[in-house]
Amino acid sequence: MSDKMEINWLKEVKNRRDEIVYELREFLQYDSVYDEKTRKAGAPFGTKIEAALLHLLNLGKKANFSVRNLEGYAGYIEMGQGEESVGILCHIDVVPPGEGWSSPPFAAEIQNDRIVARGALDDKGPTIAAFFAMRIIHELNLSIKRRVRLIIGTDEERNWECVDFYFRHEEMPTVGIVPDADFPIIVAEKGVLDVEVSIPFHDTSEHPVRLQTFYAGERLNMVPDRAIASLICSHESTEAIKASFDHFIEEHQLEGKAKAENGLLMLTLEGKSAHGSTPEKGINAAVKLAQFLHHVNGLSDPFIQFISEHLRETNGAGLSIACSDDVSGPLTMNAGRFAYTYGEAGTIGVNIRYPVTVDIETFLAGLQAHNHRIMNHLKPSYVEKDHPLIRTLQTVYKRQTGEEATLLAIGGGTYARALKTGVAFGPLFPDEEDTAHQKDESISIDQLLRATALYAEAIYELASQ
Ligand SMILES: [Zn+2]
Repeated sequence: MSDKMEINWLKEVKNRRDEIVYELREFLQYDSVYDEKTRKAGAPFGTKIEAALLHLLNLGKKANFSVRNLEGYAGYIEMGQGEESVGILCHIDVVPPGEGWSSPPFAAEIQNDRIVARGALDDKGPTIAAFFAMRIIHELNLSIKRRVRLIIGTDEERNWECVDFYFRHEEMPTVGIVPDADFPIIVAEKGVLDVEVSIPFHDTSEHPVRLQTFYAGERLNMVPDRAIASLICSHESTEAIKASFDHFIEEHQLEGKAKAENGLLMLTLEGKSAHGSTPEKGINAAVKLAQFLHHVNGLSDPFIQFISEHLRETNGAGLSIACSDDVSGPLTMNAGRFAYTYGEAGTIGVNIRYPVTVDIETFLAGLQAHNHRIMNHLKPSYVEKDHPLIRTLQTVYKRQTGEEATLLAIGGGTYARALKTGVAFGPLFPDEEDTAHQKDESISIDQLLRATALYAEAIYELASQ
């Protein structure tokens, strides 16, 4: 096949449909969540992630690609020859599944032509899509000038220790794509800042109602979907608080329950989970619960006061850090983890995503008023719109979808910012619902196949330059 215009990429993908679906479902059955307890040499993030990495590398080996395991921190699957390389950065770790799934989160059942599993969209689905894209180029015997390397990250959802390790030992690809966000093309990614705020303990033992504990959320990059508080109060106030809590959840159309047990009044409130980069799409259970507790008679606690005064708006206005730019839009803020036990300082983990052209120092001034420490910082990333990488992806996208390839900016921190010249490209089409990090995460088989075809042509074009 000499003329590349003759290749019907989608047809090539569809010819392999059953195999692609089979391999993705197999791969999704690994519960590759970070596991502190099983960390060891060769498995720095636990044996669950290690098992998924070995499985994928083995697929690469079976396809006659060269593969390498970098001490369990990362791996790669490579094809072709040449000085320069095209990198595809994906990740195989997943966030914990959480509650409320309609089928077991690692069963990868098919419902209405969608594969339902934690990781289906983020990021095992696109990983398998990119892998098959490479296989198609290989199986069609197409000649390429650059090496193509699928770089497999294993710690994307936590600390990115995987890419740190990888780029300490391996070359930077000439250009790269990251199949871990939205189509068409994401050229700008906001800066990401993880901050922990601590609220000093204040003795409230004389108050009629005392906050004993308050907990919500596991991850800074997820909107907490459940918050639990316990109160110590008299029998009369227990009844009054129960009644007003019922009223509150009805008024706000939320779910929750109040229950007296072991001398404590336990309040549980359900919110709605969402990715930390789009906190406005979720309902922060902790913020809602604090909103209720703020108005409870006889209760006055600085932890609750802080939440209701400073964390209500997801644009950071309450923390005096709100800002915006034309390229990437407004700053967003997600309060993702809350921990308080009476007698100790409370802590709140906050995930901030700031616009690409805004200087961090200018908005950080707003945080100075609070006792905080920076836990993690990813600088913004941005590729100019007339770079050959962008132009190639635009051409391919338009040819296959018939749609204009609009250039996007997001708040999500994808691996693109770990690349010198790289952008996020798919897998979510503009008309698809984003279920990443949510219960019943899923990918439609149609979307999976169309994404595979786009990756195949894009990789081929980029590797032919
Ligand atoms: Zn991801």
